[in-house]
Amino acid sequence: MIEGLHVHCHFGVRREAPGEPWQLDTSRCTEVVARSEQGRHKKVCNYRPARCKWIRHGCPWQGFRKDEAQHMTQCGHEEFKVQLRKLAEVSEQQVTNFRTIEEQTRKMEAMRAEQGRKQTEMDQAREVPIAS
Ligand SMILES: [Zn+2]
Ligand SMILES: [Zn+2]
Repeated sequence: MIEGLHVHCHFGVRREAPGEPWQLDTSRCTEVVARSEQGRHKKVCNYRPARCKWIRHGCPWQGFRKDEAQHMTQCGHEEFKVQLRKLAEVSEQQVTNFRTIEEQTRKMEAMRAEQGRKQTEMDQAREVPIAS
């Protein structure tokens, strides 16, 4: 293989400013790949810049592809978590509604019981002992 056909990974080099020569960044990808394989490597490179796929849910995470899986286990912006939060809000509202209904039912039952008690008192008052 001729050296010239191999290149350092695109994500393993950096330059100070546009126009400056590219320098190796050993803290990143150190792969040397055949020029023809460069495109394929870029797709799987651990140091490909990545952003969280739930950025539209407000996740600010940015990093490297190698850290993406780790982030996904901690990300609080996943679709299902967002949905779950919404669901939790809805069911909280339902619980509140249910409590209100329950409360009203209790009041009505108390009123009915009170009325029943008064009715019984009235009925008893009307009972006149038979003189013997
Ligand atoms: Zn690479
Ligand atoms: Zn995230």
